[in-house]
Amino acid sequence: MTSLLLLAVLQSVSPTVRPSDAIGFEPGTDSMLADWKQVSGYMNALAQGSPYVRVDTLGRTTEGRPFLLLTITSPANQGRLADIKRGQALLADPRRLTAADLEDLRAKQPAVILISNNIHSTEVASSQMGMTLAYRLATDPEWRRLLDSVVVLMIPSMNPDGLDTVVSWYRRYKGTRYEGGPLPWLYHKYIGHDNNRDWFMLTQVETRLVTRMLYKEWFPEIVYDVHQMGSNGVRLFVPPFQDPVNPNLDPALVEAMSLVGTQMAASLYDAGMTGIAHQQTYDLWWHGGFRSTPTRHNMVGILTEAASTRLGSPITLSVDSVRQPGPGVNYPAPWPGGTWHLGDIVRYELITSQALVRLAARDRINVIDRFVGVGRRAVEDGLAGNPFAYVLPPEQRDPEAWTTLANVLAAGGVEVWRAAESFTADGQTYAAGSLVVPMGQPYRAHAKDLLEAQHYTPVADRPPYDVAGWTLPFTMGVRADAVNTPFSANLVKVDSVTPTPGRIEGSGEIFFLKNRTNAESRAVAALLAAGQTVTIVGDSLMVRGPRARAILSDHAARHGFTVTAVRTAPAGGQGATRQRLPRIGLYQPWTGNIDEGWTRWLFEQYGISYTTLHDGDVKKGGLRQRFDVIVLSDADGSAILRGVDSSRIPLQYAGGMGESGANAVSEFVRGGGTLVCLDGSSNFAITHLNLPVVNVLAGEASGPQVLRFYAPGSIFGVRLGRVERAGSPVTLGVPDSLDIYFENSAAFTVSAPARALATYPDRPLRSGYARFQERLAGKAALVEAPVGSGRVILFGFRPQFRGQTHGTFKLLFNTVLLAAP
Ligand SMILES: [Zn+2]
Repeated sequence: MTSLLLLAVLQSVSPTVRPSDAIGFEPGTDSMLADWKQVSGYMNALAQGSPYVRVDTLGRTTEGRPFLLLTITSPANQGRLADIKRGQALLADPRRLTAADLEDLRAKQPAVILISNNIHSTEVASSQMGMTLAYRLATDPEWRRLLDSVVVLMIPSMNPDGLDTVVSWYRRYKGTRYEGGPLPWLYHKYIGHDNNRDWFMLTQVETRLVTRMLYKEWFPEIVYDVHQMGSNGVRLFVPPFQDPVNPNLDPALVEAMSLVGTQMAASLYDAGMTGIAHQQTYDLWWHGGFRSTPTRHNMVGILTEAASTRLGSPITLSVDSVRQPGPGVNYPAPWPGGTWHLGDIVRYELITSQALVRLAARDRINVIDRFVGVGRRAVEDGLAGNPFAYVLPPEQRDPEAWTTLANVLAAGGVEVWRAAESFTADGQTYAAGSLVVPMGQPYRAHAKDLLEAQHYTPVADRPPYDVAGWTLPFTMGVRADAVNTPFSANLVKVDSVTPTPGRIEGSGEIFFLKNRTNAESRAVAALLAAGQTVTIVGDSLMVRGPRARAILSDHAARHGFTVTAVRTAPAGGQGATRQRLPRIGLYQPWTGNIDEGWTRWLFEQYGISYTTLHDGDVKKGGLRQRFDVIVLSDADGSAILRGVDSSRIPLQYAGGMGESGANAVSEFVRGGGTLVCLDGSSNFAITHLNLPVVNVLAGEASGPQVLRFYAPGSIFGVRLGRVERAGSPVTLGVPDSLDIYFENSAAFTVSAPARALATYPDRPLRSGYARFQERLAGKAALVEAPVGSGRVILFGFRPQFRGQTHGTFKLLFNTVLLAAP
């Protein structure tokens, strides 16, 4: 009684603070954007003053800002959050859930939903909307009433660093011709817009924080990701999604996504809004987005996509300039055109959010039952086989890739087990230490979808929304066997796995590396950085001396590779020698290039130092005096040359490297430098360095679409011929065949003196989709071309695609570490 009285007194003393009182304007006001300090400051103030709101800091962002999670529910529920979380964990794992548990939880457990704002920082409205949403939930009697039956988790911004990046850019150029225009850099330090492509690989801090909260702490039944799209189309997309549906999605989830979407749409039309569309653009095939990964965890995952303004600034569109479908069941009322404000997006998103809260509260028992039912079916389907389990044996070419794959699954909530003894399955004997992923577990869909090959079939000749294939054993070069027949084995569950420590075998002070693992490249970078001499000897790398021993024994122990020590060096067979880390320049155009960000991220993960090169640095020339290697990440050739037009971006960021920059790059190569071109930038080098190479797919951009070669994100096999690759450091330690990542990439024919280091077989498709894949037969995927006294390495694929392709990182590492002059 006393504490209740005290609470009442406190509330009368400090009334719940309104967003406008805290930040000085109503969220959604034209031209006014709150930054992260203001948003997080408001959320903290709200939590201080309201018994309905709690703020937790899940961790720190990439750039060190606090990453927040709000928990909004009734004071009674706030008082038993630990209990509620325990209940969610039970509901998420029907194997542990007794009938009595379920009966009890159906009686008293609130539904748990997550609303996630602003993962894409330029889609800024939801970061502002969240303040009003939290305030209304905490204060409005009608909204409050729902909170006995629902816990609303809210991420105010999925990328606080990016919110500040965008808001400061907007403020700087407000009132100028660049108001609301594009940024010259990424809004996530490393991966920009791809922060919503990281939800199974979990390479970034923010993704990992939220993944742990979702699948190990809170287990929400519904996840709502709030987005914006282009300006000129419908005002808001809400589910139902478009076909195709991934076969691993439970039908009840597919229907529930539609249910949530139509509830939102009905609420919007009830409130007099127009321009709300279903079944556009967004399909249910792809895995890896914040709306799609939860659907492999038995959760209802949805997004909405609102038409954008120019950041905080309104846009005006005549009805004729709006691209809208004809009226029908998927679009009952067109938008009449006019001026579209930030506040309009906020208003639409408040209605969709409230519709979701209301649905979850009123439909609480169905929400719970569905979550349990989908989980039960996952377990039953897995126990029925097809497959029964995946086995990842310990004998792998790259042990670190093997453990990374297992750890990615485990971090995503998948149960991974280690065999304590050898066992037999499907007639095959597996050694002790094998990792086993049984399919009879609640998150079967997630594991299966990541471990199996994708076979995408287009519907109505539409491309998939994102990539078509993502099979991790292929991209990571890890053997994972599907076992169809039930088997028994002595298994121990593991939370994470580390490679068995490697060591230096033999004796002597001369050391040989097979260079088969990515970790060996990390060690080579460390050796070169320490001034150790690395020599190519046949298919191996040789180093010597006590300093090398110290570095290698440390790296081998931590990353699981083996080094051979000998007393005397073999006679002959010695190739190129490196005595220091090559000076690597990584070109960063002012276009916010995501592939550059991934390259930078990868280099940092493996201890490879680099210098960022901007247009001005390139144009200055004299590159050969400063660099041994220059890397051009995937970019359109004309984007490299011309960049963004000065009508859209301030002059210092406009115009690309231009002809003078292209000439400087050419001079760099002719003077002995190594130029590395990833995917699209190959076209730039072919043209500007007159390489005897043709990208045979360059012409595919024209002509009727149905006749074009098309592979929007697929895994292809390539072959590396023993003879063709001989003597090239680029392929040192790489197997004779491997899987590469192809996303509308390039394929080459070459003439001497250029040579193909890797070529496509007749039918290269391994996972995903390809139209006219036979056109790749015999074409080159990886090319080395001498130019003057330097050379160009052309990658017709993405060796570091989204940080996923551990199986081809090595090619990029060799190129920058060993193929330099
Ligand atoms: Zn988005």
